[in-house]
Amino acid sequence: MTVFRPVLLSFALLLSACAGTPTAVPPPPDLSSTAATGAHDNLNATLWMQTAAEYQAAALGGFAQAKARLDIALADASINALPLPEQTQGFESLPPAIITDADETLIDNSPFQARRIRDGGDFDPATWAAWSNERKARGIPGAVAFAQYAASRGVTIYYVTNRDHASEYQATADNLRALGFPLADDNRNLLLRGDPRAPGKEKGERRRFVAKDHRVVLLLGDNLGDFLDGVGSDVAARENLIAPYADWWGSRWIMLPNPSYGSWESAILKACAEQPSTACKREALRYD
Ligand SMILES: [Mg+2]
Repeated sequence: MTVFRPVLLSFALLLSACAGTPTAVPPPPDLSSTAATGAHDNLNATLWMQTAAEYQAAALGGFAQAKARLDIALADASINALPLPEQTQGFESLPPAIITDADETLIDNSPFQARRIRDGGDFDPATWAAWSNERKARGIPGAVAFAQYAASRGVTIYYVTNRDHASEYQATADNLRALGFPLADDNRNLLLRGDPRAPGKEKGERRRFVAKDHRVVLLLGDNLGDFLDGVGSDVAARENLIAPYADWWGSRWIMLPNPSYGSWESAILKACAEQPSTACKREALRYD
């Protein structure tokens, strides 16, 4: 890509000469790596989440729906938002709780994605850990207001996130609390991946932990694994997995849009593990 540098510099000098003023020539962009100019899988998705009014509208709509369905669930003790295999008897008399994911459900990590686009490369744990420890994730439109409304109705919100308990616990609590999300003084309603109370990676174990003494009235997430276990399969299997729950979306389960990453992407790549990911994804396109 360095071949373009002299061309850009000459073009900038020409513009300056034509203007007839001795203005300083801005430095050319660093085109020494493909990070500056190369294609990146996440460019469009990240721009959409960072700039599109359509994204803000979708998020606001999701939380408006969540609020309306919460009111309904609080008035009807028979409603249970746990997936069917996780439901137990006698929940009707328990106090209400919401289980929600954090990343790209309540808080926005798109600056991390933007940095990966800028610097080149996909997700990696070290750069993610650095970002999450900055405690800079912002609230997704509508999220804080919804969470505070739920708390005002006497609902406990459990934050069930696959951030790492060992390395991200305090930063996650600090970030959520600073944004105004209701969090107990001892953070007991925060359940990260590896929490000693329910250490499994899949979220079902943590959902069941919450359900031991709560009626779960609503689930919120941006990823199928925020609602169901066993989502790390292929595309067809995931479609079968959600089939029994067609009526739950927008009622018991609220899905926030995330075109940037998720188990949906892993499901595509499962079909061709030995291929470069872009070629693999192209093979998954439908043309009719
Ligand atoms: Mg998430």
